[in-house]
Amino acid sequence: MKTNRLSLTFTSLPENVLIARMLASSVGAQLDLPMNDLEELKVAISEAVSNAIIHGYANNPDHTVTVDIDIVGDIITVRVSDTGCGIEDIPQAMQASFSTDPERMGLGFVFMKSFMDSLDVASEPGRGTTVLMTKTYHSSPQTSH
Ligand code: ATP
Ligand code: MG
Repeated sequence: MKTNRLSLTFTSLPENVLIARMLASSVGAQLDLPMNDLEELKVAISEAVSNAIIHGYANNPDHTVTVDIDIVGDIITVRVSDTGCGIEDIPQAMQASFSTDPERMGLGFVFMKSFMDSLDVASEPGRGTTVLMTKTYHSSPQTSH
């Protein structure tokens, strides 16, 4: 089975969310994903990366975020890690509409959960957060181009 592994580590600058999106885009293109799946993968990855920068590092651009992508056949595993402030209460953070920032919608985890097959969050206050997401893509020759 074909395996492909990618790892991208970048500075916690907001403009680097676009770089992570482009990585997701290129991976999706390699897998020949339909446009909808591709868009959802891009959103899931960029939401996790945005959270690392905005919440994990409180927008401080002196840190790094790592995105690891593993593709084994039709299964994609994405890991987004930061070494920022961590999350005190993970179940609460994952609730729809919960945000520690009153200006935000609290929907990032909702998108990640609905767009991927699995979502796991590991976090330790003061040490950082790792978001692990997987998705299996079933090729459908009738609908693909
Ligand atoms: P939105 O994504 O809609 O802009 P949001 O970022 O607040 O709003 P979620 O992405 O669902 O919503 O995250 C919920 C909460 O979880 C955040 O408000 C934040 O408190 C916490 N959180 C998420 N990711 C991290 C992270 N990497 N480090 C620290 N806290 C995080
Ligand atoms: Mg968010």
